[in-house]
Amino acid sequence: MIKKARSVPLRVHKLRAMKRRVRPDHENYQDFLSELGRKEAGIYGEQSLDYYIKLLPETDHPFYIFHGLRLPFRDTFFQIDTLILFSSFFLTLEVKYNKGTLYFDPKNYQLIQEVEGSPHKGLPDPILQASNQCFKLQLWLRAKQLPEIPCEKLVVLTHPKAIIKVLSSPSEVERYVIKSPALTIKVKAILERHSSQPLDKKIIKKIIRSLLKDDTPATSSPIPQYAILPSDIMTGVFCPNCDPYIVMRRIHGKWECSNCGEKSEDAHRAALEDYALLISPFLTMRELKRFLRIENRVTIIRLLNHLNVEFVGGNKSRTYNLTPLLTKT
Ligand SMILES: [Zn+2]
Repeated sequence: MIKKARSVPLRVHKLRAMKRRVRPDHENYQDFLSELGRKEAGIYGEQSLDYYIKLLPETDHPFYIFHGLRLPFRDTFFQIDTLILFSSFFLTLEVKYNKGTLYFDPKNYQLIQEVEGSPHKGLPDPILQASNQCFKLQLWLRAKQLPEIPCEKLVVLTHPKAIIKVLSSPSEVERYVIKSPALTIKVKAILERHSSQPLDKKIIKKIIRSLLKDDTPATSSPIPQYAILPSDIMTGVFCPNCDPYIVMRRIHGKWECSNCGEKSEDAHRAALEDYALLISPFLTMRELKRFLRIENRVTIIRLLNHLNVEFVGGNKSRTYNLTPLLTKT
C-alpha cells in the first residue's frame, strides 16, 4: 500500500518555469538547465521503477511504501528515495538513473561513471549512501522513542542500458546493487531472511504516522540561488505549440498564435502559473496588465473569474491571489 506517493518537487516546478521564462542570455541559464536535466532524469528513473514496485511479491502482512520522505536528522534532514516498511523490517531503495558503464568501488567509497565521449566522472558511493540512510533512520526511530527495527538497503539502477562493473568488494556489490527488473527476486530473498515475528500492528501504525508527520519537503528555491530577478522573466502568454516561445495575441475573445495559428481559451493559465512560481502568487492589476500584455482590465477580471482567482483589498490596493493555480502542481 502506498502511504506517500511520488510527487514532483516544488523546486523542479520552479526550474521548469525558469526554463520557459528566463531570458536565454542570463548568465546562469546553462547552470540551472543542467540542474533541471539531472532532476528530470532522476524523476524519470524513479517513475520507471514504479512498474517493478507493483510486481513486489505478496506477503502475509501488508507492507507500506513511502516515496521521497525527507526526515529531520540532528539539525538537518535526510531524504530516502523509496522506503518500504515490511512487517518486521525497513527496506530503503537508493534509486540511480546513471547511464554508461558504472564501476563500483565500495572499498574506496566511490563510483566511477564512464560514458562514451566524456571524461570519467567520480560519483559518491551509492552503497554508502544507502547505509547512511539506514543509519539515520535508526537514529530517527530512537529519537521518536520507537522500537529499533532492522533496516535493509538496495541500490537500484534504473537506466536500462547501464552496465555494472566491479572494482572492489564484489560480494558487497552483488548483495546490494541491482537493476530494476531484479527487484522482485531480490526482495523475495530478503523476505526469506526476515521470517521472524512481525511487529505489533499498533507499533506499525505509530511508525507510519510518525513518518508522515515528520516528512518535511524541501523549500530551497532556485530563484535567488541562480540570481533570477523579476526583470529577467519574459512576459506574455506563450503558445503551447511553438518552441522557442511565441507570444499569443488576444483576438475575438481567444488567444491566437500568429506563428502556427493555434487558438486557445485558457493559455493565460500557464502564464499566471509561471508568474506565481517565479515572482509571487500575489499581484496587482497593473502587474497583470504588464505580464499578460492586455490593456483591458475588464477582460483580465473575466479571465481571473474563470480561474477562481480571488482578490483582497479595495479598488486601489487590490491584490489578486494566484495560490489556487499552484495547488494542482
Ligand atoms: Zn504557435
